[in-house]
Amino acid sequence: MKFMIKATYFLSPLILVSMIVMNNTVKYTKLTYLLPMIFGVFSYTWLLWQFILSARPKFIERQFGLDKIYRFHGIIALVTIGMIIIHKSLFEMIFSETITTQLGSIALFLFISISVLSLLFMSTRLLKKIPYLSGIVKLLNTIKVFSYERLKLVHNMTFIALLFMQVHVLFTSSAQNNPIIFTTYMVYFFIATAFYLYHKIFKPWLLEDHKYEVASIQKETTDTWTIALTSKTGEVFQYQPGQFGFFRITSEGIKAEEHPFTISSSPTTRTHITITVKALGDFTQKIKHLKIGDSVTVEGPYGKFSYLEFEKEKATVFVAGGVGITPVLSMVNHMLYKDTQRHVLLIWSVKKKEDLIQLTDLEALKKRMPNFIFIPVVSSDDTWTGERGRLDYHRMKTWTAPPQFADQSTGYFVCGPENLMKMTVSSLKQLGISKNQIHYEQFTV
Ligand SMILES: Cc1cc2nc3c(=O)[nH]c(=O)nc-3n(C[C@H](O)[C@H](O)[C@H](O)COP(=O)(O)OP(=O)(O)OC[C@H]3O[C@@H](n4cnc5c(N)ncnc54)[C@H](O)[C@@H]3O)c2cc1C
Repeated sequence: MKFMIKATYFLSPLILVSMIVMNNTVKYTKLTYLLPMIFGVFSYTWLLWQFILSARPKFIERQFGLDKIYRFHGIIALVTIGMIIIHKSLFEMIFSETITTQLGSIALFLFISISVLSLLFMSTRLLKKIPYLSGIVKLLNTIKVFSYERLKLVHNMTFIALLFMQVHVLFTSSAQNNPIIFTTYMVYFFIATAFYLYHKIFKPWLLEDHKYEVASIQKETTDTWTIALTSKTGEVFQYQPGQFGFFRITSEGIKAEEHPFTISSSPTTRTHITITVKALGDFTQKIKHLKIGDSVTVEGPYGKFSYLEFEKEKATVFVAGGVGITPVLSMVNHMLYKDTQRHVLLIWSVKKKEDLIQLTDLEALKKRMPNFIFIPVVSSDDTWTGERGRLDYHRMKTWTAPPQFADQSTGYFVCGPENLMKMTVSSLKQLGISKNQIHYEQFTV
């Protein structure tokens, strides 16, 4: 299936290219015509694919995982814009400006503006790599010029750019002279549009059996809450431990925005699901105002950050930072029912001892799972009598050294703040752990 999706991705522009070449073989023997056409067709087809990918189709997500798809989406946005610029520059060498090229230019202008805004303000990972820029953007974020939700609205305007691009391609000589090429352009456009409109308009209506109700709200720390949700149908949907969903809350004073949260409960619990949310920004800070009975729509499950995805792995090492414990809570509670003898090491790093939510439950697991080792590490709290300080290479080396974790059948699951993840992954690689054994989930897109 993975291969089929990749093959379709690469073949879809090639089909159009070969149709256009066969339609006028004489013209396209000349590189001056062939090259700009190839760049144009590839960028057109791959931009259409961007709309398919942003609809989060399950058959693609199951193969690659949503975080990989989002990363690819960001990279391909840049690649295709580069290709359109080349296409435009090469064409301008042979043709003067016409209405067709002007339509293409408008589409390009819109794509560039929206992509730059999205990459700068929606993808915090990219920002962190550009120190000066990150400062300016942080400032703009504090004065709420570009909230994530506002940017999402701006991002939707790429659909207008797509319309300009579609008219642009339909006016090209090959589409005008050959009805099959014209129809192929239309079919490609309708497929992409169907995915996009289904995702934006129809999917929310179809989530009827994914309607949940707030059953309890439990304060874990001053800024973290666990919310239990019961399904209106009586039974919760099937998911794997460690997976996440997109949650849309309907409650007075809380915007009905869609936000991703890991399902922190175990799928062995069929009566309800829980999410554990740390207040970080506008939306999450309001989570404490939720009321029992508030309605929540859940779209999911998504993600491949689950020990069940890796059948060959017989032992598991979890490294979590702060609220990155949520997928681990789901997985260890699942193991408690399905694989009690499993060798599990959980290293959990937090700032203060209060941040160790559900500590008693985790400590209690040691009694019911004989091979469960739990090492909580607190970085800035002198009152903590256990392990203190930050995680580093030497600690990782010592704690992962026991023979039960020493072979290739151990899976490493890392989730937490970016610095912790970077340190952990690089330490594991230095320790000779293969990258296939290291799985991670990032809480930023
Ligand atoms: C796969 C995944 C699992 C997650 N699981 C948990 C969890 O179990 N517990 C928890 O506390 N947090 C979790 N998060 C993080 C949580 O989604 C964000 O903290 C929350 O969306 C921030 O929204 P805000 O408006 O409060 O903050 P803001 O300050 O507006 O946003 C902070 C950052 O969160 C991200 N973000 C904001 N809004 C959205 C959105 N609508 N969709 C996608 N990303 C957004 C962006 O990267 C943004 O820069 C998870 C995130 C992901 C991607």
